[in-house]
Amino acid sequence: MLFSCGPSKCDKAVLKKQSNLMVHHRSAAFLELYESLIVQLKQLCDDREGEVLVLNGSGSSGMEAALLNFLSSGEELLVIDSGRFGSRFALMAKRMDMIPHLYDVKQQGVVDTAMLEQMLSAYPAIKAIAFTYSDTSTGLLMDPKRIGAFARKHQLLSIMDGIGGVIMNPFSMKESQIDVCIMASQKGFWMSPGLCMIALSPTALTRLNPQAPTYVFHFYEMLQKQKQNALLQYTPAVSLYFALHQALCILNSRPITYWNQFYQRQYERLYTIITEANGCIKQAPSLSRSVLLFTTSKSASRLQQRLEQEFQIRIELGLDDQEDRILRIGNMARYSEEELNALAHALKLCLQEENN
Ligand SMILES: *Cc1c(COP(=O)(O)O)cnc(C)c1O
Repeated sequence: MLFSCGPSKCDKAVLKKQSNLMVHHRSAAFLELYESLIVQLKQLCDDREGEVLVLNGSGSSGMEAALLNFLSSGEELLVIDSGRFGSRFALMAKRMDMIPHLYDVKQQGVVDTAMLEQMLSAYPAIKAIAFTYSDTSTGLLMDPKRIGAFARKHQLLSIMDGIGGVIMNPFSMKESQIDVCIMASQKGFWMSPGLCMIALSPTALTRLNPQAPTYVFHFYEMLQKQKQNALLQYTPAVSLYFALHQALCILNSRPITYWNQFYQRQYERLYTIITEANGCIKQAPSLSRSVLLFTTSKSASRLQQRLEQEFQIRIELGLDDQEDRILRIGNMARYSEEELNALAHALKLCLQEENN
């Protein structure tokens, strides 16, 4: 049982579609699926006036591709460091010879607009702001509306890593005024890793670099082709497209608020399971609903091992945890009552025995 923060448990109906007979990506059947997929993705993130691209690759490839298509080497950007994933944008930018300016929010846990203003005065050449909505490493949840409004006010492009954040937490491209939102198939879409989806606002479309130095991740060309029905300039991961389409059909059969509330309830249930097993849950001004970070008084890696070996339950360790005390449980899939009970039972048992 996968209780990790992605990949997480897959939906049966979604997996079934993933193992469909192969079709050719230029066939009518695939074209029809593809068109529907794009419409559904726009609906999911409330981006009806913008465009959505699907790339072969994990979420990180989408983050890197986004930087590559909107910024050039030598250009400056503001990066919000909310943990391992927020800071990944800076790492990527450096390797592409861009100049990232880090704003560390790991202590405060929230973005202070006055600080953003200060950074912009100090570095007036900043062109974009990149951040992670739900940082799986720290559990921190950033406020896209605040960041989107700030970016709009200063004509900066806002690039959001929404991987494992959207669906579980409320998000709308339109309301937040975010320009670029990156998602990944294994986090919240009940399917395997392998695809990343990128929503672009109307503003983002006007700021794409037609000379982006890439072939496979060339957004401008991809959008041209998308309009001409010629699809992609390389072979799409056909099976995964089928799976993603099925997941979107289920997700879009209800308003997004339904899923936000579903994950809120499941979060509360997981919270109770962890605290009843004596796990101490991290507190912060704004925490994501996609992950629960907790500390134990005993070795976290030993607990993780026992859960896996004795109960076939997989949870994750904290990243950058020198003391070996942090564990993480993902809330990115729909768990059955039996699965939740099994987790509760196993956690209690292991933690009790470790304490004796
Ligand atoms: C998992 C994750 C990533 C990285 O995605 P990959 O699919 O592993 O490349 C980036 N950001 C966040 C917030 C994540 O949870």
